[in-house]
Amino acid sequence: MSEPNPNCAKLLEVAAQRDTLEAFLDFLDARSIRLGAYHEHGAGACESNLSWDGRYVECAKSEDRLYPVSFTRDALLYEFFGIDAVALEAERRALLDGLRR
Ligand SMILES: [Zn+2]
Repeated sequence: MSEPNPNCAKLLEVAAQRDTLEAFLDFLDARSIRLGAYHEHGAGACESNLSWDGRYVECAKSEDRLYPVSFTRDALLYEFFGIDAVALEAERRALLDGLRR
């Protein structure tokens, strides 16, 4: 039988590793070390290429420059551990709904 809440189970399974990684990210943060990524045109990383009046504009980012990452710590850790955040939330809601019945 398959796990009814695979993302909840995975989150529980990696709790200790996640705590360690969170501590490491706190360590980096305390030293003002930030995560960054190089921009890659056309790899889904280009922001909207429409100006306020609907004209197409070139992406203003450079592929040679490091940019701050815009995702949350949770999103980064979920991706690392292979946890689907949307499915996780659905599993949590279903569990809560089950408790209310
Ligand atoms: Zn671009």
